[in-house]
Amino acid sequence: MNRVIMLGPPGAGKGTQSIIVCGKLGIPHISTGDILRQAVANKTELGLKAKGYMEEGKLVPDQLVIDLTRQRLTQEDCAQGFLLDGFPRTLDQAEALDRMLSELGAPITHVVDLKVEETVLLDRIRNRASEGRTDDKVEVAAERLKVYWAQTAPVSGHYRDAGTYQEVNGLGTVEEVTERVLKVLG
Ligand code: AMP
Repeated sequence: MNRVIMLGPPGAGKGTQSIIVCGKLGIPHISTGDILRQAVANKTELGLKAKGYMEEGKLVPDQLVIDLTRQRLTQEDCAQGFLLDGFPRTLDQAEALDRMLSELGAPITHVVDLKVEETVLLDRIRNRASEGRTDDKVEVAAERLKVYWAQTAPVSGHYRDAGTYQEVNGLGTVEEVTERVLKVLG
């Protein structure tokens, strides 16, 4: 059983690795960023609330993301495991996740923390900007990194002392990093 949290800064390759690993393990890939982008595109109530924060590279308020994650995790396909990509991003989200998973009797089995140097992150984010993701314009990317260090990096500390936590070197080819992640997941 794999109930996984994929941590790491923007540009570390979380999204790419998450998709590949979920495909190999046959578990749902739960990306709060994807769910929010879809909500923005569909102009749902959630999307309208989230849009401004996302465009500025800021975090969407905790309660909105916690509620959408709870809804997703209680769907049937998550009973056989799941991978969370982009959640939790604050200590309050991490604590809310602990509570919801203990209610479900389904604790996290692996926390993978992808490690990439900041200079490499900025290069990757600049490249992504040319692919047209509006939240990856260079100015917004800088804000996203700032938000990461201030609000999300402490989430690693929340899990570091648990036996489930593992750092993974995020440098190298996509295949090399996938191999490292799969090794950690067993
Ligand atoms: P991502 O694709 O994971 O980088 O997420 C894109 C954007 O969605 C982020 O910059 C945030 O504005 C928002 N977002 C995604 N996940 C979360 C989260 N767990 N908490 C708050 N905001 C989030």
